[in-house]
Order: sequence, then C-alpha cells, then structure tokens
Amino acid sequence: MQYFTDIGLEVHVELSTRTKMFCGCLVVDPTVAQPNTAVCPVCLGMPGTLPVVNKQAVAFAIKAGLALHCQIAERSIFARKNYFYPDLPKGFQISQYELPVAFEGSIGITTSQGKKNIRIRRAHLEEDTGKLEHCNQQGETYSLVDLNRAGIPLLEIVTEPDMHTIEEVRAYSQELRLLLRYLEVTSGDMEKGAMRFEANVSMRPNDNEALGTRVEIKNLNSIHSMEKAIAYELERQQKILEEGGAILQETLGWSETRSETFSQRSKEEAHDYRYFPEPDLPPLIVEKTWIETIASEIPELPEQKRVRYKAEMSLPAEKIESLIQDKSVSSYFEETVKRSGEITANTVANWIVGDLFGWMNESGCSIQDIKVSPAELVSLIQFHEQRVINKNSAKEVLHEMLQTGKPARQIIQDKGLKQVSSTDELEKTITQILQKFPEEVSSYHAGKETIFNWLFGQVMQATRGKGDPQIVKVILKKMLS
Ligand SMILES: [Zn+2]
Repeated sequence: MQYFTDIGLEVHVELSTRTKMFCGCLVVDPTVAQPNTAVCPVCLGMPGTLPVVNKQAVAFAIKAGLALHCQIAERSIFARKNYFYPDLPKGFQISQYELPVAFEGSIGITTSQGKKNIRIRRAHLEEDTGKLEHCNQQGETYSLVDLNRAGIPLLEIVTEPDMHTIEEVRAYSQELRLLLRYLEVTSGDMEKGAMRFEANVSMRPNDNEALGTRVEIKNLNSIHSMEKAIAYELERQQKILEEGGAILQETLGWSETRSETFSQRSKEEAHDYRYFPEPDLPPLIVEKTWIETIASEIPELPEQKRVRYKAEMSLPAEKIESLIQDKSVSSYFEETVKRSGEITANTVANWIVGDLFGWMNESGCSIQDIKVSPAELVSLIQFHEQRVINKNSAKEVLHEMLQTGKPARQIIQDKGLKQVSSTDELEKTITQILQKFPEEVSSYHAGKETIFNWLFGQVMQATRGKGDPQIVKVILKKMLS
C-alpha cells in the first residue's frame, strides 16, 4: 500500500514593533533583558486594566497579508481564547478567531519538482504568552515565569494542507521567512524565537480522497527541527497504518534530545477554548485608503527580484538565490552593478558571492559592516579586468581593503603589486629560470609535458606573483620551443 502525506503549517511570527500589542511596554531582546523588566499592569493581566491596539502591528499584519496575496478584512474582530497556563496570567489570550485580518492568500515555492503555490488560509493577529524556565537545582525542581514576552504581537499564518513532502515544507518556510524579512515586519531570528512552527501532519492511502486523521506537532523552534519532527512522524504513522492500526488525533511535542515526538494531550477542539469577542476592544476597522498606502510601501519582493535579475542580467539561478537571500546584500550588489560600467553583472556577482561572502563568513561581519563601498569594489574589479593586477593580487588587495578600508589604488601602490606585463622584463626572468633548471627543461623536451606547469610556477614565484599569468604562459611556451 502506498501512502500520501498532507501537511499544513501554522507559523507564529513575532512582529518587530517597538512596543507590545496592547500596552506601551518595550519589546526587549530576550537574550539581553533581565526577566520581568519589560512589563506593566496590562501585560501582567491585572484586573481593571484595558488593552489598546498597537497600530504598527496592524500595519505589519496588513503588509504581510498583501504580500501573501490575501484579502484584507476591512472589519475584523479580536477574540478571547480562554485557557489556563502559568505563563498566561490573564487566563486568556487575545487573538482573532472568526474574522482574521487577512485570509485566502497564497505563496509560490520552488522545489526539485518545479514551482507550485501553497494556499494561505488565514493570517491573524494575537499576543504572545510569557515564558517558563524549568529549573532543577540540587534535586529541587521548580519553574520560573518571565513575562517580558507576554503581549508581544504575533502574526499567525496558517496554510491549507497543501504540502506533501518535507522538501515542500522546507521551501515554504524559507520562502515565507525571506518574504517577511524583505517586508521588515519581523527579524525572522529563529534563535531568539521570532518564528515558531506547528505542523499538522496526516497520511492516507493513495486512493483515498479524504484526508487522514491529523496530529499537530507543537513548539518547533527551527525549520530544521520541524523537518526532523515531520520525518519522524511520517515514519511512525506509516508503521501504524501498515499494521492496520488507527492514528489518534492528538497534540504532540517534539523532543530534540530524544529525536522523537511525544503525546502532550488528546487534540482540543476550538470550542474547548470558549472563544468569544473580546469585550474590551471594538471591532478593528481598516480603511481602504490605509490599505492602499501600505500596499504602496511594499518593496520589490524576492520573486520579483529573481525574475528581474534573470531578465536584465542573465545571472544563473543559483547565483541569484545567493544574492537575494539578504535584502542588504542584493542592494549592495545592485549599487555595485550600477557603477560597474563595462564590467558584467556576472563578474560583480562572482566577487560578491565568492570573496566577499568568504570574508563575511570568516569575520562574522554583515554586509552593512564591511569597509568596502560598492564604488571601491568596482575600482578593484577594474584594476583586475584591465590587468593592472592579477587575480591573486586582487584577492590580496580586497582582503586588505576589507581589513583597513583603504582604497584599492593605494594598496596596490604601497605593496607594489602592479602586474608585470612588459614582455622584455618577463623574457629576462624566464631566461634566468630556464638557465637555472636545465634538467627540467630537457625532461620537458623529452616529452614530460607536466613539467611546464612547474616551470610556470617558478617564473611566477620569481616575479613574486606579479607576472601577468597569461603573458607568462605565452612567452614561456615560445621560449621552450
Ligand atoms: Zn505591558
């Protein structure tokens, strides 16, 4: 029996507003802030306090909704989702239920099987909960509550069960993250919990139309963890189905240390949360003109960039992908190409994807931190293209530019790196080398052709790497024959 897999994702995205969703508390970096220092009576859930909607969070939600080709609700409703949890002092979470701010959208993804669209069912606003820290000190176990995170705005983006392989799950998650980062509505920083995933996974026999019983895997903190959890779950479900068993509808957790899913609770239904409209907030009315203003602020998005780079610069797909993964990198690339004159976009791309990325990896610098401006990079590439310096020297110069911020021209001068391409000078050096190694020369003449590269190396060394390699090769060949 062959089985077919259906996967839908819920992605919780922390919106990068300055303040929280319903109060004026600052959104603080969880890796820096002391626990419970960014809290107030509203996000602590004190009786008698009232929430006020953060306009910027709504704007971010609309922006994301538009970029996901969603319809934007001109009237949406905040609802109370009631449940008890120690990190939720109010006893309910303000979310959106029946009328979310955005719905019925889609996003295009590319996998080894080609392009396809994943439908977005809805995207709704809600507030984050606090965080529990489970401690174990000298056999004593207890939990601490930090409410800095309580009330940070989240956008929950829910897909239809349109994904059928782990590759599609990966492509969707990466594309969604890229899109949201381009929109600058989230940091997308998974290490700080700015994107968290939940996967709904089910299996059915190939000839079955109806979806199988689904399980929900909660609290996946990275795309990688999600992939592992889904892979584990698919194997587990297939085994049960093959043995004639039935899948239980339940909520699962994922243990990173044991690399397995575990049952948390039998699946709750929506009515368990006793949703009802939040009585402390009026309906959220979004005017058309505001939606139009937000739409006009959407920048060129990754997919548009891919199409344009291909059409305007005929770059290969892989290189395009490397350049667009970070919006700042693509801006740097475009700035450089704008100034590059005769130099092709492909040559510029090679320098950035190769040497500049290498340096960024090595030094931990981002493109904003590097000391080489697009204009200076162009000047370096020109020195190389016009054969003033050879490739090795150019790499050396770039390295120094990145370290010191000095212009290419000055480094070439200071280090005397100008390429030697004068035929007279090179002929002199080659003559010396041929006289120095008569045995190697005779073995070359006796047919050992590999010795040519060795002799070439000797000449380049004698020029201290400054010989123009192409000219050296021509003269060496001529003089040997
Ligand atoms: Zn607060």
